[in-house]
Amino acid sequence: MQKPWLGALFAVAIALPCAAAPALTPEQARARAIYAKLISYKTSVGEGQVPKMTDYLVGLFRDAGFPQSDIHVLPLGETNSLVVRYRGDGSGGKPILLMAHMDVVAADRKDWTRDPFKLIEENGYFFGRGTSDVKDGVATLSATFLRLKAEGFVPTRDLVIVFTGDEETEMATTQDLVDHHRALLDADYALNADGGGGTLEENGTPRIYSIQTAEKAYADFELTVHNPGGHSSWPRPDNAIYQLADALKKVQAYRFPTMWNDTTLAEFTAEGKVAPGELGAAMRAFAKNPRDEAAVEALTRDSSQIGRIRTTCVATMLRGGHAKNALPQSATANINCRIFPGVAIDQVRQTLQDVVGKGVEVVTTGHPTASDPSPLRPDVMAAVARAVHTIHPGVQVVPNQASGASDGLYFRAAGIPTYGVGGMFIKDSDSLAHGLNERVPVQGFYDGLGYWYVLLKDLAGR
Ligand SMILES: [Zn+2]
Repeated sequence: MQKPWLGALFAVAIALPCAAAPALTPEQARARAIYAKLISYKTSVGEGQVPKMTDYLVGLFRDAGFPQSDIHVLPLGETNSLVVRYRGDGSGGKPILLMAHMDVVAADRKDWTRDPFKLIEENGYFFGRGTSDVKDGVATLSATFLRLKAEGFVPTRDLVIVFTGDEETEMATTQDLVDHHRALLDADYALNADGGGGTLEENGTPRIYSIQTAEKAYADFELTVHNPGGHSSWPRPDNAIYQLADALKKVQAYRFPTMWNDTTLAEFTAEGKVAPGELGAAMRAFAKNPRDEAAVEALTRDSSQIGRIRTTCVATMLRGGHAKNALPQSATANINCRIFPGVAIDQVRQTLQDVVGKGVEVVTTGHPTASDPSPLRPDVMAAVARAVHTIHPGVQVVPNQASGASDGLYFRAAGIPTYGVGGMFIKDSDSLAHGLNERVPVQGFYDGLGYWYVLLKDLAGR
């Protein structure tokens, strides 16, 4: 049994904030409360909780004085998107879109150290599914809207929150917005909280801040070999599984051409200054001359770099045959490609067809979308740099092309330049998005909150 006085001592210790941690401002406390509420909704696919989380957010915006006519909930299947317009006086030009997604990747309680759907603050971190991808963005953008509204701020142009509802799976809500609600998206450009951001060295000093200006397209292709089959006791040289295996070896050996754009060269120039050893040297050499073969080889050998300078395609799944004692009538492999911006999807399919040759069917699956890089706009780059420098003065701000894809892709494809400008600085060792025990540094969350406030006032203030 615990001694009563000991319990009282603990109670006091818990009630008193730690001397080292400064008290939260009212804005920070409110953003934290919103963040905690958002994390509590299990918004992974199949759970049907995005509409519930949306109801909560709608309530916040309505209570803050946003008219119902400027709040749009757009249902699609079990999920929905949410568009909230903060009306400006129009003197500053066309609207700016502010993007994030409300869904998260699934998380299983039994695999996690802590409850993934509860915001837990521990050792300087916020833990929980979606803490970094990207409910921090949803919380800080929403809290910033509420703060600006309470302060009576009138933007010079409309600011439009666009929260999608299935970015981690189908991106159908994004496609639906672009296809059927285009009037809501009429804008100069979009800023995406789910892209870009800062990196910290392991000792906590800032390394670089990246503005995501381009992303690779995602596409899957199926390679199939058909064969009449037969009895397995009468084998023949033609065999669907062997033919598919031969085709896959050709795909493995094929290398797509080296490519680059303004973003590639700018990011290698900047990262080359801070990346260590051989990698840093290769980045600098490539930035100077992208035809430098030694640099191309060094970057190609590094799996974290190869996708930055070319389209990549890799075998990811396999199926074939129908019985253990029968010659296979078909064999199929999935080839997953990450396509360099500006390259057409069908051009990649044709290349794969040429590589594997006749006798192998190559089919595009799903509905992949390609996008061009967004232009490096000086006004956006400069405003983001100013806001970033309020957190970490002097850190390099550099354009970046993502090797993965987000729903910014659909906006770019629809002609809306899109910039990933998340407000979080994070160490590589803390990058656990999609994985177990996802977390962000507590300070990073509050810094991100202040960053959005500065950035929106800069871009739409007078
Ligand atoms: Zn995300």
